[in-house]
Amino acid sequence: MAMTRKKTVTIVALLILIALLAGAIFLFYRSAEAPSNNSPQATQKQDSPQPTPDKQPSTFDKKRYSIDDPNSIWVVVNKQRPLLSDFVPSNLQSIQGGQLRSEVAGAVQQLIAAANKENVSLRTISAYRSFATQQSTYNNYVKADGQANADTYSARPGHSEHQTGLAADLGNGSGQCDLEVCFETTAGGTWLAKNAHTYGFIIRYTKNDTATTGYQYEPWHIRYVGVDLANELYSKGQTMETFFDLPAAPTY
Ligand SMILES: [Zn+2]
Repeated sequence: MAMTRKKTVTIVALLILIALLAGAIFLFYRSAEAPSNNSPQATQKQDSPQPTPDKQPSTFDKKRYSIDDPNSIWVVVNKQRPLLSDFVPSNLQSIQGGQLRSEVAGAVQQLIAAANKENVSLRTISAYRSFATQQSTYNNYVKADGQANADTYSARPGHSEHQTGLAADLGNGSGQCDLEVCFETTAGGTWLAKNAHTYGFIIRYTKNDTATTGYQYEPWHIRYVGVDLANELYSKGQTMETFFDLPAAPTY
């Protein structure tokens, strides 16, 4: 009898021990799992408002480059803002069809290669033009067409973007509509209007801005300004004059 009682006590003690152990294990796992019910994500959702995406005002830095320095990729040249007659870009590089500032030459080549990949053939018709070249080009137009007409499509020497080494006239590989407004509707013109900004270029003399730019619509004349500004002008549909709060330059 005494033995049985001792046995019972031992069994009870063992059971209590097991129960205590089980309890301890249960509590341990509960505390280990607890943080997952209160994860940082859940806390953030409740406590801090979600940031509103893409609703912030444009922070484009309009002063990043000079619009007055002829060596700047943002220089604005028009009928009111001439270049000095002796200005020559320092880093001209030869490409098919002429010379451009080295960073611009690379960008034009990339642009033409990208068009080719989509079976659109583009070529450079004219690129950098010196003050002297512009003088003879302009004089020839004046002789043939009269000064009033020439001024609508040809810059007087010192006022041409071509003197900066940042501008180029492109045409179709076939020569279709070279330097004519109908270039706009050709494969090359359509492609250029849609993609030039991706390579840092703008169509400088746009259709509805002749009173601002001072030139007739030239869908073939592209001007390098870098990818950031090209995207900005493209998305806003603005000329350089409007974007930089410059006066319109319809005449000299
Ligand atoms: Zn041009």
